Amino acid sequence: MKTLKVNIVTPDGPVYDADIEMVSVRAESGELGILPGHIPTVAPLKIAAVRLKKDGQTELVAVSGGIVEVRPDHVTILAQTAETSEQIDKERALAAKRRAEERLQKHTPDVDIIRAELALKRAINRLDVAR
Ligand code: ATP
Repeated sequence: MKTLKVNIVTPDGPVYDADIEMVSVRAESGELGILPGHIPTVAPLKIAAVRLKKDGQTELVAVSGGIVEVRPDHVTILAQTAETSEQIDKERALAAKRRAEERLQKHTPDVDIIRAELALKRAINRLDVAR
């Protein structure tokens, strides 16, 4: 079976490096399923899980936006943050989710709504991937 080399990299360093049969990412324009031989493309990513399929198993990596660069034999994801399901601290993500929800409920002028909404999305994504 043909495979693709997948690298997920953040400003803190590499998070994932493996040969994979299929990768699915959530691009701003919609879900993108990538198999070996895919046409070259670059796309911005949403805060979502990257799905990596190999030997009938699916691994998940939580990414907080960024970009994906696709070449026929290589996929590179440059993300602000990325964690595999084992790396995610669930308690921390739960605390971040509660904090963001409280901020969004307050509706006071000191709350940066967009920032709180993004924090909430990151926390929910981490909780989904950690499950
Ligand atoms: P928090 O408020 O808990 O810091 P956050 O969404 O603001 O959450 P980020 O700014 O996205 O955090 O990430 C900062 C760093 O902490 C990154 O290296 C990220 O991978 C890591 N990180 C954030 N939340 C978690 C988590 N729940 N488990 C493991 N690593 C995490």
